[in-house]
Amino acid sequence: MKVLGLGALEQRLKHDLSIIGYPLNEWVPEKFTKEGERVLDVLIVGAGQGGLAIAFQLMRERVNNVLVIDKAEAGTEGPWVNYARMPILRSPKEVNGPDLNIPSLSFQAWYEAQFGTSSWASMGKISTKMWMDYLVWYRSILQLPVENRIRLDAFEPYEDVLKVTLSCLRTNRIKTVFTRKIVLATGIESSGEWWSPSIAYNIPKQYWSHASENIDFSRLAGKRVAVLGAGASAMDNAVAALAADAQEVTVFCRRPELQRIQPFKWLSFPGFLRHFSELNDDWRWKFMSYLLGLREAFPRETWERANQFDGFQLETGVPWKDLSIRDKQILIETPKGQYTSDFLIFGTGFIIDISRRAELRQHADLIALWKDRYHNPSEDKDSLLLNYPYLGHGFEFLEKKPGTACWLKNIHLFTFGTTMSFGPSGSSINAMKFAVPRLVNSITKDLFFEDIDAHYRSLKAYNLPEFAMVDEDAEIAPNKPQIRRIGGNNFS
Ligand SMILES: Cc1cc2nc3c(=O)[nH]c(=O)nc-3n(C[C@H](O)[C@H](O)[C@H](O)COP(=O)(O)OP(=O)(O)OC[C@H]3O[C@@H](n4cnc5c(N)ncnc54)[C@H](O)[C@@H]3O)c2cc1C
Repeated sequence: MKVLGLGALEQRLKHDLSIIGYPLNEWVPEKFTKEGERVLDVLIVGAGQGGLAIAFQLMRERVNNVLVIDKAEAGTEGPWVNYARMPILRSPKEVNGPDLNIPSLSFQAWYEAQFGTSSWASMGKISTKMWMDYLVWYRSILQLPVENRIRLDAFEPYEDVLKVTLSCLRTNRIKTVFTRKIVLATGIESSGEWWSPSIAYNIPKQYWSHASENIDFSRLAGKRVAVLGAGASAMDNAVAALAADAQEVTVFCRRPELQRIQPFKWLSFPGFLRHFSELNDDWRWKFMSYLLGLREAFPRETWERANQFDGFQLETGVPWKDLSIRDKQILIETPKGQYTSDFLIFGTGFIIDISRRAELRQHADLIALWKDRYHNPSEDKDSLLLNYPYLGHGFEFLEKKPGTACWLKNIHLFTFGTTMSFGPSGSSINAMKFAVPRLVNSITKDLFFEDIDAHYRSLKAYNLPEFAMVDEDAEIAPNKPQIRRIGGNNFS
C-alpha cells in the first residue's frame, strides 16, 4: 500500500501554515533591562506536549522572542519514555491536542503519512512510544526554540520584569535570564509532589518505590509484589511487574469497588472544556470536588493485560494501616488481616501543594489558593482541593493579599494544578486545543496592553505610503510592493 511519506506531509504542513499565517509581522517591542540585557517575552519551562504547544501558538501569534527549556534530555521529556509503563495511551486515538486543530500537524496525519490510512483505521489506541516520537517530530518540524538540560531553579521580580535563575545541567553552570512572562508547563505532579502515605517511611526505602520512580523490574522476578492504589498507574506498574516474572502481584484498593467509570470521558465536550473556568466558584467547586473525588478509572486494555497473568490478584476494600519488616519480609497490616510481600509499589499519585515545589516554595506564601478565595461553610475545611492555586482568567497566579506581589500575574501555570480553576487544561491532551489558545490570548493581551504607549508612538510614526505620486516614483523602490515586515516568520 502506498503511503504519503513524512516529507510530503511536511510540505503540506508548511503550505497549510502559510495559508493561515496572516498577519506576519512580529509586533512585541524589544525590551532590555537597565544594564542592557535583552529580555525574553516568554520563558516556557517544560518542553513536554504542553510547553511545545504553547510555544507553537505564541509563534503563530507572532510572539517569537520565546525560549522553551527542559531539564530532561531531548526526546525524553515528560512521562512517555520514563515512568508511563503502559504500551498505549489511555486516551482514545481520535483525541487531538498539540496540533491545535491543524489537520496536517495532528498525530493521525503523522501516523497515516508513515503507515497508511487503513493501518490507522485498524489501530486500537496510540502507542505511548509513538506519541513521544510524534512530539519529537512536532518540535523539530515547527523549529521550536527548545534548550534541553536546562533547569529552572528560581525566579523573582526585577525592575518591571522577572529575573530567572537557571542551571545548565550539562556544564553545572548557573545562568541568569530576564523575561516578561513565565509559563510553568512542568508536568502533572509539579504543583506539588508525588505522594506516598506516611506508613511507607516505616520501612527502609529498598523495600518500596513510588510508581513514578525509576524501578528496576528485573529485580522483581520470582518476588511477591504488593501495589497500593487502583488507578491507571498502579495497574500499569502491576502489569510491568508481572511481565518481569514477578511470582505474584496483588493490587490493593482502599475502596470497596474498583473505579470503572471514566468521568473525564463525560466532560470531554466543548462547553465544559472551553467554558468551565467561567463558571462561578460554587459550580466549579461542585463539579471538581465530585470529579476529583471519583478518581480516574484505568482503561479496559489494562484490565485485560493484568488478567492474562495467573499471578495477578486484586483486593478491594483493603486499606493499608501499617507496614513493618520481619525476616526480610514486608508485613502489611489491614482491617482484613495481615499480608506479606517482598516489594511494594505505591500507585498513590501526587498531592497539590506549591510549597513543596522547589521553584515555587520561595513565593508560596504570596500565591492565592482556593482556601484564600472560596468560603463555603458546608464544605470540608480540610479538603485537599482547597490547596489548589486559585488562578486568574489567563492561568496566572493571583496574589493572596492584593497589593503584595502584583508581578505574580506574569507567572502562568499549565499543570494539573490548574484543575480546580479550569477543569482539564494543563497536563491533559483532550483540553489542549481549548486551553492553549486561552493561555496565549491572555499573554498577548498583557504584552499589548503593557506596551500601549510604544504602540501609539509607533502608529504616529508610521508613514509608509500605499502608492507613489508621480514625482516620488524615484524615491520609492520601483516595481516592489512595500511590505512592513519587522521580524522573521519561522513557518514560511
Ligand atoms: C503515566 C501517565 C500517563 C498518562 N497518560 C495520559 C493519556 O493517555 N492521555 C492523556 O490525555 N493524558 C495522559 N496523562 C496526563 C498528561 O497528558 C501527561 O502528564 C502529559 O505528559 C502532560 O504534558 P505536560 O507537557 O503538561 O507535562 P510533561 O509531559 O510532564 O512535561 C513537563 C516537562 O517539564 C520539565 N520540567 C519540570 N520541572 C522543570 C524545571 N524546574 N526546569 C526545567 N524543566 C522542568 C520536565 O522535565 C518535563 O519534561 C498521563 C500522565 C501520566 C503521568
